[in-house]
Amino acid sequence: MSQSSQTPPKSGIRVLVVGAGFAGLTAAIECHRKGHNVTLLEKFPELKILGDIISFGPNSSRIFQRWPGVAEKLDALSQRADGLVIKNWLGETLLTQTWTAEQAESVSM
Ligand SMILES: Cc1cc2nc3c(=O)[nH]c(=O)nc-3n(C[C@H](O)[C@H](O)[C@H](O)COP(=O)(O)OP(=O)(O)OC[C@H]3O[C@@H](n4cnc5c(N)ncnc54)[C@H](O)[C@@H]3O)c2cc1C
Repeated sequence: MSQSSQTPPKSGIRVLVVGAGFAGLTAAIECHRKGHNVTLLEKFPELKILGDIISFGPNSSRIFQRWPGVAEKLDALSQRADGLVIKNWLGETLLTQTWTAEQAESVSM
């Protein structure tokens, strides 16, 4: 399907997704985009704000890029990290991992 927000042709397939977390919502959106008739069930009665950040890795961001307008809206709100540093309780560095180094390795493989 193209990047447009046009309604896809109906597939005739009915899909039941249980759980409206990131995984369930993503599955439901993708199924809807394929023209399936989606029912999404969630047992939690109310939306609560928990956690400090929402972190999505490069793989999951490929999914957002298929959804018209979403990547642009997220871009405006996002902080980008080049990697991460894991420290112990004394503040000593245990591990430094940079995405750019991994990206260069995967390109050369
Ligand atoms: C305390 C805490 C803080 C966190 N903070 C962060 C953070 O700051 N940043 C971050 O990126 N990640 C954070 N995470 C991790 C993040 O919440 C998970 O990675 C993410 O929610 C996983 O998404 P999911 O869709 O796989 O599962 P979930 O988000 O767990 O979604 C599953 C959904 O299914 C529903 N469900 C389960 N069983 C049924 C059923 N039988 N019928 C109907 N519905 C059902 C549940 O109610 C739930 O809504 C945190 C996790 C916890 C526990």
